[in-house]
Amino acid sequence: RPALGGTVALVTGGSRGIGAAIAVRLAEEGADVAFTYVRDKEAADLVAGRIRALGRRALVLRADSADAGEAAGAVDRAVEEFGGLDILVNNAGVGLIGPLETLSLADIDRVLAVNVRGVFLTSQAAAGRMGRGGRIITIGSCMTQRVPGGGSTLYSTGKSALIGLTKALARELGERGITVNIVHPGPVDTDMNPADGAYAAGQAAFTAVGRFGTTAEVASAVAYLAGGEAGYVTGAEFSVDGGHAA
Ligand code: NDP
Repeated sequence: RPALGGTVALVTGGSRGIGAAIAVRLAEEGADVAFTYVRDKEAADLVAGRIRALGRRALVLRADSADAGEAAGAVDRAVEEFGGLDILVNNAGVGLIGPLETLSLADIDRVLAVNVRGVFLTSQAAAGRMGRGGRIITIGSCMTQRVPGGGSTLYSTGKSALIGLTKALARELGERGITVNIVHPGPVDTDMNPADGAYAAGQAAFTAVGRFGTTAEVASAVAYLAGGEAGYVTGAEFSVDGGHAA
């Protein structure tokens, strides 16, 4: 029996990048996988095809994490389709980087709505539906551990809030046998942060290993935390950052 056989996972922002790698990896481990997206239906359908090719069930949900009803509603839709929820991966996020003076109120509201409020609401809804062995895993950022340059005050503020959410929620759900952890990726090659982008060389130089990470390297840590062997791991932060924080 595969490690996650018979489980149901929901991954927010699973159509591209790190979230897509996580969705497929959890399916490889045996989970049926629901995932959300907002804009790119074609990319979402491709990921669903990869999950189904592995013999698992896939559910594509158009749900904007910035919308309170949609953020919580994704959990209900996954439970309705698959009959339960065992694993939530809060991955959807926006990476708005820019000098302090350029950030508008709309920028601040947008980043906090997706990267913080959406994670809170989806986790709250998931906690209400999970039983013993439940897993909540949130994608944070290396920018919560070390900020090597300017322009990330808004992004780092939002991502750092997720550490508090993780620890407090671990306390709140521990007695129910649900674990809550956060994974901090370093620079990872995605549409959000391409390894050939303008700021890529500087980011790679801040890591100990001198390179970008892959989405698979982040998905691997998530797969571990989602599995039965990680039952004694909760309230913890995991850097998968090539030594960015070292
Ligand atoms: P991408 O921009 O490459 O992919 C983002 C994914 O999230 C897409 O599937 C996108 O779908 C979806 N998404 C975006 N906004 C929303 C929303 N409002 N509601 C629901 N889904 C949404 O990002 P990455 O894969 O690079 O990043 C994934 C996570 O990892 C983010 O939380 C990011 O902050 C974090 N991270 C990334 C790092 C990196 O270097 N790449 C480093 C550290 C952390 P669609 O396009 O269809 O809307």
